Amino acid sequence: MTSETLPVLPFSRPHISEEAIAAVGAVLRSGWITSGPKTQAFEAALSEWCGGRPVRCFNSGTCTMEIALRIAGIGPGDEVITTPISWVATANVILEVGATPVFVDIDPRSRNLDLDQVEAAITPRTKALLPVYLAGLPVDMGRLYDIARRHQLRVVEDAAQALGSHWDGQHIGAIGDMVSFSFQANKNLTTAEGGCLVLNNAEEARLAEKYRLQGVTRGGYDQIDCDVLGGKYNMTDVAAVIGLDQIGQLDAINAHRARLAQHYYDCFGADFTEKTGAVLPLPAFGQSNWHLFQLELPSHIERAAFMQRMLDEFKIFLGFHYAPIHLFSLYRARGFHAGMFPHAERYGRQNVSLPMFNTLDTAGVERTVAAIKQILCA
Ligand SMILES: *Cc1c(COP(=O)(O)O)cnc(C)c1O
Repeated sequence: MTSETLPVLPFSRPHISEEAIAAVGAVLRSGWITSGPKTQAFEAALSEWCGGRPVRCFNSGTCTMEIALRIAGIGPGDEVITTPISWVATANVILEVGATPVFVDIDPRSRNLDLDQVEAAITPRTKALLPVYLAGLPVDMGRLYDIARRHQLRVVEDAAQALGSHWDGQHIGAIGDMVSFSFQANKNLTTAEGGCLVLNNAEEARLAEKYRLQGVTRGGYDQIDCDVLGGKYNMTDVAAVIGLDQIGQLDAINAHRARLAQHYYDCFGADFTEKTGAVLPLPAFGQSNWHLFQLELPSHIERAAFMQRMLDEFKIFLGFHYAPIHLFSLYRARGFHAGMFPHAERYGRQNVSLPMFNTLDTAGVERTVAAIKQILCA
């Protein structure tokens, strides 16, 4: 095929099975389309995935983290330590509850929050850590929870990208404090939009239920009260049946993604970094769910021009995840500026996300690697 006839290869594309489409149709015909039995069944399946811990579903991964912070009692005057390399939601939820985001730089190899720098950032006002598992790679959970224990901090894990990732042989979500997942369209498991929060006990689960539905509790036929300020964050049964279909396939989905990741390493070859200066992700097989496969371009390559050539000449559409949060206007206005987190700023400028999705095949990987080599090795 010439490049004119090649289909555009995106970096991500949702896959919805015919069974899920039929299940959505059945919900739409059932007379019960909002939160109901399907959402409860999805919560039960997620709880089983997370070792029996309580799980509640929401309509986004963003509100899930905000509610986790509210459950932890975090508000004005409190500091929360997080990473500048994430979707902006990670820091926005800290502002949303009235607390102060405190960034520390990333570890340039894992591209996650540098735990060596976390302890130095802790002050008497620090109340929580909010690590992100970028591309599905968890941080060192032993060290994370050792720091949290010694300083009596809560942890809200932004595991939005890490459903099916592992630490020490256990699913992310089966261990830890509060753990937030997202089911947005690009994630390994999607409900179009949605999220869930893994909690510690029944009391936290009850609070999560209140925060997601206007703070209301009901009893009997007509008993109703509202005792906390909640919002409207519930998941619909239309979304939940898509998730129920996908969770049954998640192991197979993630195994496929791991095979694609391995194929990327094989095609790039052991001397790729030496030859080009581009940096591949850590080969964290056994931990990562390979949500993304990200390349850090060498500093002499301008990312926008690289992305443009990949699209124009090879019809490959790349993403980037992410721009450093502290350099957005909202955060600059709060005193953050360039130069504060050099690893995050370099990575934020030079990262690209290569095609990685459930229906990608090895030919797509080969086409991508060949294109990148043509540009970088020229
Ligand atoms: C997707 C994502 C979110 C937000 O999840 P939504 O469901 O889109 O609200 C937050 N953090 C990270 C790291 C994400 O990848």
